[in-house]
Amino acid sequence: MSVTENIIRADVRALSAYHVQDASGLVKLDAMENPYTLSPELQRQLGERLGAIALNRYPVPSYAALKAAIRKKLGVPAGFDVILGNGSDELISIVSVACAKPGAKVLAPVPGFVMYAMSAQLAGLEFVGVPLQADLTLDLPAMLDAVRKHRPAVTYLAYPNNPTGNLFDLDAMLAIIHEVGDTGIVIVDEAYQPFAGTSFMPRLPEFPNVIVMRTVSKLGLAGIRLGYMSAAPELLAEFDKVRPPYNINVLSEATAEFLLEHSEILDTQAAHICSERSQLAASMKAIAGVEVFPSSANFILIRITQPGISGTQVFERLLTHKVLVKNVGKMHALLENCLRITVSTPAENALFLAALQSSLNP
Ligand SMILES: *Cc1c(COP(=O)(O)O)cnc(C)c1O
Repeated sequence: MSVTENIIRADVRALSAYHVQDASGLVKLDAMENPYTLSPELQRQLGERLGAIALNRYPVPSYAALKAAIRKKLGVPAGFDVILGNGSDELISIVSVACAKPGAKVLAPVPGFVMYAMSAQLAGLEFVGVPLQADLTLDLPAMLDAVRKHRPAVTYLAYPNNPTGNLFDLDAMLAIIHEVGDTGIVIVDEAYQPFAGTSFMPRLPEFPNVIVMRTVSKLGLAGIRLGYMSAAPELLAEFDKVRPPYNINVLSEATAEFLLEHSEILDTQAAHICSERSQLAASMKAIAGVEVFPSSANFILIRITQPGISGTQVFERLLTHKVLVKNVGKMHALLENCLRITVSTPAENALFLAALQSSLNP
């Protein structure tokens, strides 16, 4: 037996590492990043701000100023606090660890965000995936049955969902939250809220079993790794005990504070992306052999329906045109021949559209 066999869990050895495709030289439309950067003047101001930080000191673990800015600028209800994560990926992990009682389960519609299942497994929770319907909407009866059968400690509802891009029906979500009752928590994951035109956050005070989770990643700050979540104070206090005390580094903390002072810039960028999304969707709908799903996020899911060519073939032809999208066709049976395209600048979207046309008609 090797040392890895002796010490590493069998389920961990069986995993493959999270694969991120090298994007150098490619138009990068695979990861829902915001294509816009800061103006040179704001870059300079930020550089000055960061240069003055005491890098020799640990962060102050209460993160009081940053949390106050998030509460004020990002619509957290009065009387509600947030806890911060090194990306919402870390918040998902914190929730999994805190809820990992023996036999506890995690429930989510599938296809959904891969980290829900991954994080559950690593924390020793069983993951139960409930397939969406063929039109990628929630299968409410199946979700309610699964809640009754498994009594999940944690249920995830991404609003809007990744990789499908759609907003689930609000009444269906309320029915699930009601069915879960006080036997579990429901996490409404609003990673794409800046593009959704709606949010569950204002309704948080009505539901002691709901957490609203968000991130600044899709808003233009994927590199700083910052997520936050809000819920009833008693609940948040428990998760805060699992959080590593210095999980947000001082550079990310200061950068987020700086950008929240200029939050109108991020709002303007999100508005541009939303208008580009409508144009890109309309242009793709006009192409024969492409089915376009509705999106409330900064990406669009499409299905290649042209006879004689698969989604994977189109993905590969796009790469020869130096365009990288996400091939989600193998992720779930419901996504056969599907590709996920991040909405970018007008110039990059035009490049993608031309590449898509010639990939379909080589
Ligand atoms: C991108 C994404 C996240 C993770 O965001 P980070 O803050 O970058 O870790 C969470 N949930 C969903 C649904 C996402 O698509």
